[in-house]
This record gives sequence, C-alpha cells and structure tokens, in this order.
Amino acid sequence: MARFSLYSSERWFRLRRAKLAASPVCELCPPDDRRQATCVDHKTPVQGDNDPLCWAWSNLQSLCWSCHSAKTARGREHGAVKTNKPRKGCDKFGRPIDPSHPWAQKPA
Ligand SMILES: [Zn+2]
Repeated sequence: MARFSLYSSERWFRLRRAKLAASPVCELCPPDDRRQATCVDHKTPVQGDNDPLCWAWSNLQSLCWSCHSAKTARGREHGAVKTNKPRKGCDKFGRPIDPSHPWAQKPA
C-alpha cells in the first residue's frame, strides 16, 4: 500500500498524528455527515520524502478511510483518469473483484 518508506517513518508518523489531532474529522465528507478521519492525505501528490510538499502542513488533509480509498483508487497518483467508475478488476477499496484472486483469500 505505501509507495514510499516515508509512510512508515517516525517523522511522517508524528506529522500525521499532529494533523489528525488538529483536524479529527474527514475534510471531504459532506458537512452533515462527517466521519472520523483516520488517514492523512497529501492534497497534491508528492514524489517522495525529499519533496517539500510532503511536509507542508497546507498540503495535508484529514480523510476518513472511505474518502481516502476513493481518492487513491482513482487519483492521479496512480495515473488513473479521473472517473467515478471503479478500476477494472478492483472494487473501490482496491481489492480484486475476482473471488479466485489470492488477495480475496486474505481477511480484509
Ligand atoms: Zn470522508
């Protein structure tokens, strides 16, 4: 899931925790149905931990799991054309639709 080692770094962990403390609810959910944020996302995709945008507070947003999955499943980070359709072969969480796929055998 993590494309960069930065997402397992202590520095990212501290920044993420500070962001979730400052913005504990999802910033993309409708205002009348805000879920608790569990992910911190880069608004503008970053190239790695030497990218200044990676550590820029203004480039961070708190997202719930659902909104984060929906964004990353079809975001520019993955080279996908912006669309509401799920990716071919995967559900909106990025799991294979095919029940015979090895990933489908693992617990979610
Ligand atoms: Zn949300």
